[in-house]
Amino acid sequence: MTDVTAMTATQIAGLVATGAASAVEVTQAHLDRIAAVDGRVNAFLHVDTEGALAAARDIDARRAAGEELGPLAGVPVAVKDVLTTKGVPTTVGSKILEGWRPPYDSTIVERLRAAGTVMLGKTNMDEFAMGSSTEYSAYGPSRNPWDTDRIPGGSGGGSAAALAAYEAPLAIGSDTGGSIRQPGAVTGTVGAKPTYGGTSRYGLVAFSSSLDTPGPCARTVLDAALLHAAIGGHDPRDSTSIPAPVPDVVAAAKLGATGDLSGVRLGIVTEFGGEGAEPGVTAAFNEAVDTLTKLGAEIVEISCPHFRYALPAYYLIAPSECSSNLARFDGVRFGLRTGDDGNRSLEEVMSLTREAGFGPEVKRRIMLGTYALSSGYYDAYYGQAQKVRTLITRDFTAAFERVDALISPTTPFVAFPLGARTSDPYQMYLADLFTIPSNLYGGPGISVPCGLSDGLPVGLQVMAPTLADDRMYRVAAALESAVGTFTPPAL
Ligand code: GLN
Repeated sequence: MTDVTAMTATQIAGLVATGAASAVEVTQAHLDRIAAVDGRVNAFLHVDTEGALAAARDIDARRAAGEELGPLAGVPVAVKDVLTTKGVPTTVGSKILEGWRPPYDSTIVERLRAAGTVMLGKTNMDEFAMGSSTEYSAYGPSRNPWDTDRIPGGSGGGSAAALAAYEAPLAIGSDTGGSIRQPGAVTGTVGAKPTYGGTSRYGLVAFSSSLDTPGPCARTVLDAALLHAAIGGHDPRDSTSIPAPVPDVVAAAKLGATGDLSGVRLGIVTEFGGEGAEPGVTAAFNEAVDTLTKLGAEIVEISCPHFRYALPAYYLIAPSECSSNLARFDGVRFGLRTGDDGNRSLEEVMSLTREAGFGPEVKRRIMLGTYALSSGYYDAYYGQAQKVRTLITRDFTAAFERVDALISPTTPFVAFPLGARTSDPYQMYLADLFTIPSNLYGGPGISVPCGLSDGLPVGLQVMAPTLADDRMYRVAAALESAVGTFTPPAL
C-alpha cells in the first residue's frame, strides 16, 4: 500500500470504504509518522494512541458488520487543545489547566466521533488561543514544517503544523481573530472559519465568546468542506448557535473544482492595499487575482473604510471578554492550585494560582480587558470598540450588495523566524490585520494556498456573507484547481 499519510482525507476514506485499508492500518501509519517527526515539529501536546486505535477498531468492526458509515469514516483527525475531550487531557496550552481531564466531550468532538473519524490527539496552541505563532504556548512552540526555525502561525499552529508535516490529514482549529486562517496561510494548508454560530462553542474553552468559532483545517479545500459539514450545524447547548442547516459546502467545493468562476464577482478591499503586506505576499496575491480572472471571475475594488479600525477594536473587545471569561480559573474549580498551605486566605490562593498559572500574554490581555471595562473607561474603550464593530459590519453588508465575496492576502507576511516578534506585542498582533474584520462581522472566511514567496507559502483569503459559507469554498476550490496544492520539503 502506498503511504497513506501522503493522502487526502477523501482518498483515505475511499480506501477504508472499499476495504483496501483498515481504519487501524491508517491510524497506525499516522501514529508512526507522529513518532518519527513530532520531536522536531511539536504539533501535539498529547497523542492518544490507545484511544485512537480503539476508535479505529470500532470503525473496522462496524464496517465488517455491514453498517453504513459517513464520508469521513476511518479518517484520522487532530484536535486543537482548546476543545474538551472526555477523559483526555485538555490544557488550552496553559499551565493553569495542566493535568485536567474534562468530564465531557465538546460538541465538535462528539460530532467527529459520530462521523467515524479517529482522534489522534490534541494539538499545541498559544495559551488560551491568544497569539499568532504558538510561542505563547506553556509547552514550547510548534515549528513550521516548511522551515523548522520558523513559526507555524497561531494560535492553532499545532493543527496546521500537523497537517503540513503529514501527521494528520484533518485537524480542528478555532478562530477568534484569525487562528485558523493565519496558521493555514503560513503552512501552505487550508483553514476555514465558519459563520459565527455555524459551529458549536459547547466545550470550546472560551477566549472571546462573541468571536470564538471552531472550524476545519485540511490540506485540500474539499477535505475542509467535508470536515465542515461533519462538525457544523445547530447545537441547542450553545445559545449563540444558529438554528439553520450548514450551507452545502461540499457541493460548493466540488463546483469550484471544475475551475469555472464565470458570473462570480469578487471584491478587493482598497484599504487593505495601503496597509502594506510585504512585497512577496502582494506579488503572490496579485498573481492569484490574475488566475481568478482567467477562471472567469470579475474583480472589482471595494472600499471598506472602517476596516482600518478593526485591529484596535478587536484588541479592546477580545481582551474585555477574555478578562471576564478567564475569571473562572481561580484555583478552586479546575486545574492548578498554588499556595494553599492552610494559612492563606482564599483571595491569596486565587492570586498565587493565577500568578503561577497564566503566562505573560494572557496576563497582558486580562489587564487590558479589565481596564477597558472599568468604570469611567468603559464608554471610551469598550463602548467605542462596539460602535466600530457595527460600522465594520455595515461595510461588509454594503460590500456584499456589490460582490459575492471579498478577497485579500490572508496575512501581511509569511512565516517569520521563531523569536522575531515576541518582544513587541503589536508586531505579533499585526499578523491578523486581514483576518480580524470578518470575526467582528461574524461572516465566514477561508485561507487557501495561492503561491510561494522566497520558498514559503502565501495564503489567499476569501470572505463571504454570513451563512454563505458555500461561496467561499467555491472560490477557494477554483483557485486550488488552478494553482494546485503545496508540499513542504521532506522533514
Ligand atoms: N492572534 C489573535 C490574538 O492573539 C487571534 C487569536 C485567535 O484567533 N484565537 O488574539
